[in-house]
Amino acid sequence: MLKIKTCTRAMIAPSKYYQGPGELNRLENYTSKFGTSVLIIGGKTFFEKFEERLLNGYKQTSSTISFVKFDTKKCEVSLNQISKIVKQCSDKKYDSVVGIGGGKVLDMAKAVANKLESALIIFPTSASSDAPTSSFSVIYTDEGVYSHLLYCKKNPDIVLIDSEIIAKAPVRLLVAGIGDALSTYIEVRASMEAGAPNLIEDGYKRTLTGIAIAKLCHKTILKEGLKAKIAAEAGVCTEALENIIEANTLMSGMGFECNGASGAHGFHDGFTILEECKKYLHGEIVSFGIICQLVLENRDLKEIEEIINFLTKVGLPTTLKDIGIEKIREDDIRKVAKQMVNSFHMQCEPFMVTENMIYDAIIAANAIGEFYKEKH
Ligand SMILES: [Zn+2]
Repeated sequence: MLKIKTCTRAMIAPSKYYQGPGELNRLENYTSKFGTSVLIIGGKTFFEKFEERLLNGYKQTSSTISFVKFDTKKCEVSLNQISKIVKQCSDKKYDSVVGIGGGKVLDMAKAVANKLESALIIFPTSASSDAPTSSFSVIYTDEGVYSHLLYCKKNPDIVLIDSEIIAKAPVRLLVAGIGDALSTYIEVRASMEAGAPNLIEDGYKRTLTGIAIAKLCHKTILKEGLKAKIAAEAGVCTEALENIIEANTLMSGMGFECNGASGAHGFHDGFTILEECKKYLHGEIVSFGIICQLVLENRDLKEIEEIINFLTKVGLPTTLKDIGIEKIREDDIRKVAKQMVNSFHMQCEPFMVTENMIYDAIIAANAIGEFYKEKH
């Protein structure tokens, strides 16, 4: 089990966070704080839907923009791809790098800005995970296998969110973000009970401020999640949806980085080795991972029921079938357990975890999920 090795407390955050309708049109207000030379790293959706709007916002300004298209269908956030883009952009000094898109585009922008030593603005086009505010990028091999976390010198200078864009993004992405954010406090609680460190550099003690943010994230998700989902389905941005965007992005992002992570993400990482799970989103697999974690920790039935009811209402997975595992093969689930037993996440559980305990927790979590499905 991992233990904190210092009595120093630490917390971490993006320097600035802005969230509101129509913020894309005001991007120049933010980039001009750092200078006039701007590099935009965008994904496919950005170039299809938002490039023109962005260019309009820069008309009649002294800023100059360059674009890099990062096609996440063809390329991974690998060290080779990062070097390629850095090389492509090293003929000029960029005052700011703006990443616009989903998780992989944002991770690429973080890594490139870090290398170029430019200011970094992160502009997520969905609220599907809590990665935008963090100081690291997830690095894969060129073949798409997870490699390591790349820690940048700092968190983003600005996280900028246009809530109108989030409201019109596919609802499945928002709901996956709700699942990811719901795991935050549940994982933080276990990590605290374990006396495990937070995720800042080599690991520090938590601040009360960081813990309060994780708790507020949990409360906000349970209170506003369903209302926000319904608003997003109608394509409109209500106060409940604004609250969920903040919870999915800022509260969950600071919540995990300032406090730590544990079981649910460990289960997620285990399940991703199974072919059947590959078409499911990060937050969807994490959602079933939450139930596995609650079972592993033998939490009160009342809490397990509350979480399953919530996941069911917003349409997140509660059984193995819901994450693509139609036929449960003991060998496969044992492989998942073997893969995750020594992971960082499992070492942040409050007790020693064995492969058998993981296997049993997955099978029992699935049975409980099925039980409540029948009951409904
Ligand atoms: Zn996550």
